[in-house]
Amino acid sequence: MRNWSIPAGRIFGVELRVHLTFFFLLIFVWLTEATAHGPANPGRGLALVGIIFGSVVLHELGHALVSTRAGIPAKAIILLPIGGVTLLDETQRPLEPGMLTWKRDVRIAVAGPVVNILIAVIAGAVLLAFAPQVHLWTKPYVYSGNLPRSLVWSNLGLALFNLLPAYPMDGGRVLRAVFSRRMDSVRATRRAVSIGRVFATLFMLVGMIEPAYVSLTMIGFFLFVAAQLEERSAVFQSVLETVRLEDIMLTDFATLSPADTLEDALEKAVHSLQDDFPVIRGSDMVGVISKQKILAALRAEGNGYVQAVMNRLFEVAQKKESLASAFRKLTARNLSIIPVVEDERLIGIVTLQNLMHSMALLAESRKLRKAALNS
Ligand SMILES: [Zn+2]
Repeated sequence: MRNWSIPAGRIFGVELRVHLTFFFLLIFVWLTEATAHGPANPGRGLALVGIIFGSVVLHELGHALVSTRAGIPAKAIILLPIGGVTLLDETQRPLEPGMLTWKRDVRIAVAGPVVNILIAVIAGAVLLAFAPQVHLWTKPYVYSGNLPRSLVWSNLGLALFNLLPAYPMDGGRVLRAVFSRRMDSVRATRRAVSIGRVFATLFMLVGMIEPAYVSLTMIGFFLFVAAQLEERSAVFQSVLETVRLEDIMLTDFATLSPADTLEDALEKAVHSLQDDFPVIRGSDMVGVISKQKILAALRAEGNGYVQAVMNRLFEVAQKKESLASAFRKLTARNLSIIPVVEDERLIGIVTLQNLMHSMALLAESRKLRKAALNS
């Protein structure tokens, strides 16, 4: 999702990105306007796109602000042709499942549509009171010839569309949150995703049967893809939660001593596949150091001792901790190695490099086990 989007500034500290497919929407509006009302007025057409664009951004900001206040900061907002997606910093998501999390998820999901409803109601009331010539109740509701009316109806449309119980639309997220009261998050997501698929399929079918609704085919297609992605990430998350560090940590690893010289350290590093090394004094762990750091220090200041260069700030993990928890520690503090200890004794290490490898191996072994069960 991230790779196909271009940065478009920041708003309230949240990164704003526009997905390349968003430009389909521009072309679509331009085309439908041109066929429906003769040659489009480019200025007004652009203004209409601006109104929809702005309403989607405000919708996503609604999600972002409520989620940040609930303790899950928003990382970025990505604008898609069927609306936006707010990427939340899931590494900050508190682990405890339970009563409070589902209510919080409902609040975050509902915040976006609520923003649109507020805009529609306020703008509609102002127009009815002060600008009756806008003819709020006349068709077409959304078209470039009447921008104030379009503002009201496009916001109402955005709210209703997003409240469809089709995961990953906001309505589907509410549904998932409600399901998650009774079951774990993967099953709740699966159930919401299958309801979402029914909607996506319906949209595509209606779009194919009735040419006037051809855009529904596109919406259905996007919903389908989006639902698939969400399901994957939920499954991935649950794998991270169930795997213990003792299952994947490296137990055969090299260590350095603070009294080693950097040249000795480099010599050891050359003979090891490791990129990061725990530094041990006696049986105590006193720091960590990476191959790159050894090289950089050698280049900058010549030979010295590991002690002077090593990183003294590091996090340790227990062997029973989950992979998800290690992942959070690694990413939150930008670390590349986590020593695994038992009774303050170093028994293994987990590095980013080895995490990627073990994830692939785990996935493979699960597949094999599944295949063995099925045969
Ligand atoms: Zn939304």
